[in-house]
Amino acid sequence: MNDIKLATSRGHERTTIRVGEVTFGKDFVVIAGPCSVESEEQTLAVAHAVKAAGAHLLRGGVFKPRTSPYGFQGLGLKGLKILVKAREETGLPVVSEVMDTRDVSWMSEYVDVFQIGARNVQNFSLLKEVGRARKPVLLKRGMYSTFAEWLNCAEYILNEGNPDVILCERGIRTFETYTRNTLDLSAVPAIKELTHLPVIVDPAHGTGRTSLIPSMSLAAVASGADGLTVEVHNNPAEALSDGDQALTPAQFSEFMRKVGLLRAFMEGLN
Ligand code: PEP
Ligand code: MN
Repeated sequence: MNDIKLATSRGHERTTIRVGEVTFGKDFVVIAGPCSVESEEQTLAVAHAVKAAGAHLLRGGVFKPRTSPYGFQGLGLKGLKILVKAREETGLPVVSEVMDTRDVSWMSEYVDVFQIGARNVQNFSLLKEVGRARKPVLLKRGMYSTFAEWLNCAEYILNEGNPDVILCERGIRTFETYTRNTLDLSAVPAIKELTHLPVIVDPAHGTGRTSLIPSMSLAAVASGADGLTVEVHNNPAEALSDGDQALTPAQFSEFMRKVGLLRAFMEGLN
């Protein structure tokens, strides 16, 4: 990893990134919201619910990287306007995925954090483009990325002058099919040895199963993660994407209670 100059720990202070009222790399940050922005009613209902339960940022996809071209592709600009309304009503900053270099500049008027998804993590043109943007970037791990490859992706962004990169472990593809991906929690302490950037965990895409999210979230907290991102839907059975891995608002509230208790215990260990 000798050629990774900016993203590796050598000689760098730990990066902290202020977004709204929280600081990645210092506070334990929870991002929650629907996989996709589907309608104003759905997004506002989820936004108010996650805010009430203590989430710090709202997530919601408006450009969806779907396996099938016939899957719901997202609401685009209409969805971003819904996210802005949700931010106005709740005060939660918003995170949304950008998939195309042509969308980076105009989307930065709407989002507080850009997400780069697992399928686009080695789209080097896109990485350079968000590297020129003045917004933090949540950089997912690719489903086949080694740590060195993932850190090189961060390097592309840092090298363009954007220092605000948050890494997100979201599972890698293995031979197992019961889970959607294999959540690699060893990535958290390993990557924290290798880089100064904050690292959060996405147990939703990491497992693909609602039932596994609470336990893997607690395991992520214990692994030393700087935060979590989860999907919440007011009616998972009817979700247009990723309903099988969505928490209901009631499940999310219980999840936040347990995460809070474990965080408090972990602080006592330090
Ligand atoms: C998402 O966050 O909805 C998403 C598509 O994530 P990933 O890129 O990790 O699959
Ligand atoms: Mn999703």
